[in-house]
Amino acid sequence: MTLNINLNRVRNAVGITTNYELIEEKIDLTSELEMVKPIRISVMVTNNGPILELKGYINTEIKARCNRCLEDVIILINTVIEEELVYFADLRYLGNLSENEIEEKYIVFDNDIFDLTDIVRENIILSLPYKILCDERCRGLCFRCGQNLNIKECDCNTEEIDPRLAILAKLKRD
Ligand SMILES: [Zn+2]
Ligand SMILES: [Zn+2]
Repeated sequence: MTLNINLNRVRNAVGITTNYELIEEKIDLTSELEMVKPIRISVMVTNNGPILELKGYINTEIKARCNRCLEDVIILINTVIEEELVYFADLRYLGNLSENEIEEKYIVFDNDIFDLTDIVRENIILSLPYKILCDERCRGLCFRCGQNLNIKECDCNTEEIDPRLAILAKLKRD
C-alpha cells in the first residue's frame, strides 16, 4: 500500500497546478501509534520553475497511549503539509547551494511516481502534542502498585513525609 502521486504532468509545465486526492486504509506510523480511521490526503502541486510546491491536508484518527496512565487515546489529526520538491536533474538550476542547504530545504526526487508516505508520516508525528494525555487531569498510575488512579485509589501511602517529622516520630517511638 502506497501513497503514490504521479508528478510527470506538473513537472513538465511551469506554472501549472495538479490536485491529488488520496484515501488509504492504513499506513505504518511507529510502534506506539496506530491509525484507526482511513487517511484522507488532499494535495496540490504547483510548478514554480525548478521547484514544485506541494501543499495539502491530512485527515485521520490515530490511537496512542496516555503518557501517564497508558490507556488508549484517540487523536484527531487535521494537519497541513507544505514541502518543496526538486527534480534531481533540475538541481543545477538552483545555483550554488551546498548539499546540506538542499537537504534542509528541499525534497529531491528522481522518479515521477512520488511516494508521499514519508512526508505524511513525518507530518502526523510532528502534529502530535508534546505530551499525549487522556485528560489534562489524568492522575496516572500509582508508582508503587501500578493502580490506575483515575479508576480507583490504591492503599499505598505515597504521601511525601517531611524528613524532620520522620526523625521526631522515630525519637518518640524510641
Ligand atoms: Zn491518562
Ligand atoms: Zn498504589
